[in-house]
Amino acid sequence: MAQFKCIRCGQTAPTNDNYVCPCGGLYEVHHDFGDISLDHFDVKLSNIGSTWSSGVWRYKELINPELDPRHIVSRPEGNTNLYKRQKVSEYAGIDGIYMKHEGENPSGSFKDRGMTVGVSVAVERGKRKVACASTGNTSASMAAYAAQAGLQGIVFVPEGMIAYGKLAQALAYGSKVVQVKGNFDDAMGLIRNGAKRLGFYILNSINPWRVEGQKSIVFEMLQQRRWKSPDWIVVPAGNLGNTSAFGKALRELKQLGLIDRMPRIAAIQAEGANPFYKLWHSVDKKLEPMKPETIASAIKIGNPVSWEKALRSIRETDGVVEQVTDNQILDAKAIIDASGVGCEPASAASLAGARKLRDMGVIAKDDQVVCVLTGNLLKDPETTINYHIKGVSARYSNKPVVVEANLDRIEAVLSQGNDPAPGQEVKNLGD
Ligand SMILES: *Cc1c(COP(=O)(O)O)cnc(C)c1O
Ligand SMILES: [Zn+2]
Repeated sequence: MAQFKCIRCGQTAPTNDNYVCPCGGLYEVHHDFGDISLDHFDVKLSNIGSTWSSGVWRYKELINPELDPRHIVSRPEGNTNLYKRQKVSEYAGIDGIYMKHEGENPSGSFKDRGMTVGVSVAVERGKRKVACASTGNTSASMAAYAAQAGLQGIVFVPEGMIAYGKLAQALAYGSKVVQVKGNFDDAMGLIRNGAKRLGFYILNSINPWRVEGQKSIVFEMLQQRRWKSPDWIVVPAGNLGNTSAFGKALRELKQLGLIDRMPRIAAIQAEGANPFYKLWHSVDKKLEPMKPETIASAIKIGNPVSWEKALRSIRETDGVVEQVTDNQILDAKAIIDASGVGCEPASAASLAGARKLRDMGVIAKDDQVVCVLTGNLLKDPETTINYHIKGVSARYSNKPVVVEANLDRIEAVLSQGNDPAPGQEVKNLGD
């Protein structure tokens, strides 16, 4: 039987609604795995259209073996593509760089992978009200799965700081949206303190089942690579749920003998929201909460709940934590976008980070690198449009032209031909 096990003191507990050990450490799910062979996952893949072909539930034995399949709430999710693009390889200076596009999940972000598991457990446990604090994508995902399961969803979002595509989803899918006058960390604090009183089942990534679901990003990426580990997995890091999940996935695969070598995890933060970066480079390895500031709203988090789990992931995989500026994030996003793949701002921290780590000589030119693109381009159209239309330091902007409705004028404008192709660097602007 699965149990909760404290990440800090190692105490075990039944898998109930307490996610925090009396010692203050977070619980994670501890499994008693049976015999598992990799062939099994290939066989499941052929059940097209069934729950078992979901990119999450295909790995049920590694995620929640005991869950009664009748309680599964699935879209299905996952089965996201792994892309390789010349433009991106050149930008990073790494030939073997790939993008695992989690923006291709049903609600447009990787959050669906954790949410399908969290909501299924909520259903199994007979919950009626599910809640989360969110920078946007968790609320969009939870709202969708709550609607499908017939549960009441309540989401707490920071007022005025959530991208429009995400707010639109939460409203449209019918969750109660509470706009908190404060940032994500304030909203998270309210949920943690208020859940019992308000009768909420919490679906943030402090819920250990969310982390279990997100392990499937690694499982699926490895299956797509015929179970050959890359050298690096590069992931944007905010609340650190993914960083935690990836380390746990790799540890379990290694323990089961299903992989022989672990990729190294590189967690990338925005410079203005970098408490985990600072922790990693500190002596005492303690998290100092901060007031976060970054254009990449999905990683605008100053007090990440999963820092202890994430620290273990970095240590166990011989990983690194790096930071990038907002300009580096937006330029990397413009390259990913112009390659035809596209992503939301926070996602591009992965490519910006890979490029920086390559420049620093940490990643080698011939390393195999998988960047996780966490969310869809359409989540945050405002940031993209601002970059291309008014971006002052936008190196790869693709400005629209305004022309009278007259073919001669249009022909004249189009034949000027000195507009750089999108993705091509604009040199010597203004000098
Ligand atoms: C939630 C989210 C993140 C941050 O992931 P964590 O697991 O909280 O570190 C990054 N990018 C996008 C698009 C997200 O939705
Ligand atoms: Zn404990």
